[in-house]
Amino acid sequence: MKIAIMGAMPEEIAPILEKVGVYTTHEIAGNKYYTCRYDRHDLVIAYSKIGKVFSALTAATMIETFGAQTMLFSGVAGAISPQLAIGDLIVATRLCQHDLDITAFGHPYGYVPEGAQFVEADADLIQKAVAVAAEMGEKLHTGVIATGDQFVADPVRKAWIAETFAADALEMEGASVAVVCEALDVPFFILRAISDAADMDAGFDFDSFLESSAIISADFVMKMVEHID
Ligand code: SAH
Repeated sequence: MKIAIMGAMPEEIAPILEKVGVYTTHEIAGNKYYTCRYDRHDLVIAYSKIGKVFSALTAATMIETFGAQTMLFSGVAGAISPQLAIGDLIVATRLCQHDLDITAFGHPYGYVPEGAQFVEADADLIQKAVAVAAEMGEKLHTGVIATGDQFVADPVRKAWIAETFAADALEMEGASVAVVCEALDVPFFILRAISDAADMDAGFDFDSFLESSAIISADFVMKMVEHID
């Protein structure tokens, strides 16, 4: 199987590159893509740069140019649910774009015609993740992830996203990757380890916990790879 593993920032894929050890580097449209063989699979690994546009470009390139058949995203996120502490893992059941707004035309937030307010993640991959978590003795949360081109460090914005989308965590790339994967018919899995609580301390917490949370997420994703047939 050809598996794409992507992050948004260098810190999110560094632990993955370290684990695979040897890889070939390709440069396309301002990004580096790393290919290698790992545990019966061909991997293509990349970080996209931050936000919905860059992540959509990278996801599409991994699928169209490299032929990826499954997409695994690994990274960090801000917590909305009070159940989520720093370092906790959450896998998205569905994703939405919290900053997409044509409500002036009577549409719900996060919706555009011929799109959908939510994109559903692949049930089989989530099920695999639950099994992997049980095997590792790790707690894995599941829930709604809201994506937007904003670093949220504001209790008011966070509460609005929570109420509007019943979201459990927020970040800046998941839903755009989901939209691309759904359009190109590739199963996807969006995993995040919490780096902050999207509140007044978010900037400080993010800087403190980016690296440690990115490692937690990357380690889990590599265990997932080992469980994919
Ligand atoms: N420190 C970086 C910017 C990080 S932006 C710099 O200065 O270059 C935040 C990144 O982490 C995004 O990729 C996003 O997906 C995720 N993230 C973590 N916490 C977040 C939050 N509170 N709001 C939005 N995105 C968050």
